[in-house]
Amino acid sequence: MNISHIEHIGIAVRSLDESIPYYEKVLGLKCYAIEEVGDQKVKTAFFMVGQTKIELLETTDDEGPIGKFLDKKGEGIHHIAFAVKDIEDALKETESKGIRLIDKTPRKGAEKLDIAFLHPKSTYGVLTELCENKNQ
Ligand code: ZN
Repeated sequence: MNISHIEHIGIAVRSLDESIPYYEKVLGLKCYAIEEVGDQKVKTAFFMVGQTKIELLETTDDEGPIGKFLDKKGEGIHHIAFAVKDIEDALKETESKGIRLIDKTPRKGAEKLDIAFLHPKSTYGVLTELCENKNQ
């Protein structure tokens, strides 16, 4: 597959309101977008670092994926997302190499990216997201 860069790092937080000031006032980054992704039961906040983003994830539902993650592991890095050139192709290749997919076909994520997750049991513990920006 053709990975161009790390698109973003997803970080689970209990509260965007409480965590955003750390990224802005301590790290000096600027939150350029806040978006709710109903599908994933999260509210996200984005910061640009070079060509990579930090995506803070606050749950909107205790039973959602981030709600469960916070319950089990607490705040911290949730997933890493790689930008790929052709996500359908990348998923086919990944599956053919014996990796378990959470999403067999891409779905829409934040910022209208096409995204799909690989199962952390197949990726040595790292929840891995592939994404492609088809809007540019
Ligand atoms: Zn993500």
